[in-house]
Amino acid sequence: MASGRELTSIPTQRSALLFAEAQRLMPGGVSSPVRAFRGVGGTPRFIVRGSGARIVDVDGNEYIDYVLSWGALALGHAHPDVVEAVARQAAQGTSFGAPTELETELAQLITRAVPTVEMVRFVSSGTEATMSALRLARAATGRSAIVKFSGCYHGHADPLLVAAGSGVATLGLPDSPGVTSGATADTLSVSYNDLRAVEALFADRGREIAAVIVEPVAGNMGLILPAPGFLEGLRRVTSEHGALLVFDEVMTGFRVARGGAQAFFDVAPDLTCLGKVMGGGLPAAAYGGPGELMRLVAPAGDVYQAGTLSGNPLAMAAGIVTLRRLSEPGAYEQLSQAARTLAATVKAEGERAGVAVHVAAIGGMWGFFFLAVPPADYATAKTADTSMYARFFHACLDEGLYLAPSQFEAGFVSTAHDVAVLDETRERMTRAFGRIRA
Ligand code: PMP
Repeated sequence: MASGRELTSIPTQRSALLFAEAQRLMPGGVSSPVRAFRGVGGTPRFIVRGSGARIVDVDGNEYIDYVLSWGALALGHAHPDVVEAVARQAAQGTSFGAPTELETELAQLITRAVPTVEMVRFVSSGTEATMSALRLARAATGRSAIVKFSGCYHGHADPLLVAAGSGVATLGLPDSPGVTSGATADTLSVSYNDLRAVEALFADRGREIAAVIVEPVAGNMGLILPAPGFLEGLRRVTSEHGALLVFDEVMTGFRVARGGAQAFFDVAPDLTCLGKVMGGGLPAAAYGGPGELMRLVAPAGDVYQAGTLSGNPLAMAAGIVTLRRLSEPGAYEQLSQAARTLAATVKAEGERAGVAVHVAAIGGMWGFFFLAVPPADYATAKTADTSMYARFFHACLDEGLYLAPSQFEAGFVSTAHDVAVLDETRERMTRAFGRIRA
């Protein structure tokens, strides 16, 4: 829904002014597309500050935040320990382009929590993590093709920007102008949760396939859980054909469980991509796996990959305190209880309002579709009622709830989303559903 129709009754003048100026200077007025509210219409809110579960915009409106920097903030906004760690490090220098002890410390925390990751390489974004992991997979296997699932997002590297085609398995066609057919020629696209299609693809072209990359819990087409046996099946098929299994846990890592979705479902990938939570809200990401594979990466090996700000001290410091806090007893129980409560709230309030809604929750992720059936793949997810979502989104904003500005994004919670915040959310949501029914 691209209409600029204002659906709000709270003040947005300052955000609107800032957005006008931003649009003059930056494409769409934003630094990343979904922030522009194109999926729901209206004026994106310019945020000035956040604390715990709440954010405040330039017009003084306060919202309970369920976007949390797209899942990065597992401890909520401006957690005192994170603020202190970043400030302390900033006073000592923000970047050196030389090794620091902080990288080793964060690497220890990651490898202890995620046993399939024996060694990591730090990068600055999830895009870099997946792009580099696939380069490594291709180098390790000497093969070219990669398999991805339509609706899974792995960042914006050229080979991963493929259109989901029709048919069981399609040769990837570029999904963006500027991406050449050459760049996507080795990308094969399959429906999420369709293990049969993966098996058929391997039967046909198994010797060409370097890796299967998957979001072990899909969070970029709305929240879609893996069907029972899907991840296990991917593990089996890839092993049988000498291909690598890459879990993109940029969103799920340190969020659905301390050990990520791989711990939750007890399926071990060959390579893991991490981001978001591990950087504590600062730009950090990583890819990792067994030493045998990771030692192929330069300078230990020949697979080139580098970064001026990789392993940035501020981001490492924020990541270290975040992972320490999350390793305290009860942290993940609290996150998953909060996510389950939210899903149950949407379900109950939606039903009361006579709206068909399907909900899901896992660890610190939750989501819902305005859809009667539980979607298992992108094709079904796309049939959700996006105009209903847009109305609900704006009703929630008016009531002080900041949800993702698109039907096709997951929701998140932090340890700051305590029982009081969840109760307040339920009251606000009841009113929001009342409005869309009216
Ligand atoms: N992989 C997944 C699963 C993601 O959710 C994202 C970002 N939402 C990325 C990769 C890309 O990460 P970044 O935006 O940091 O490049």
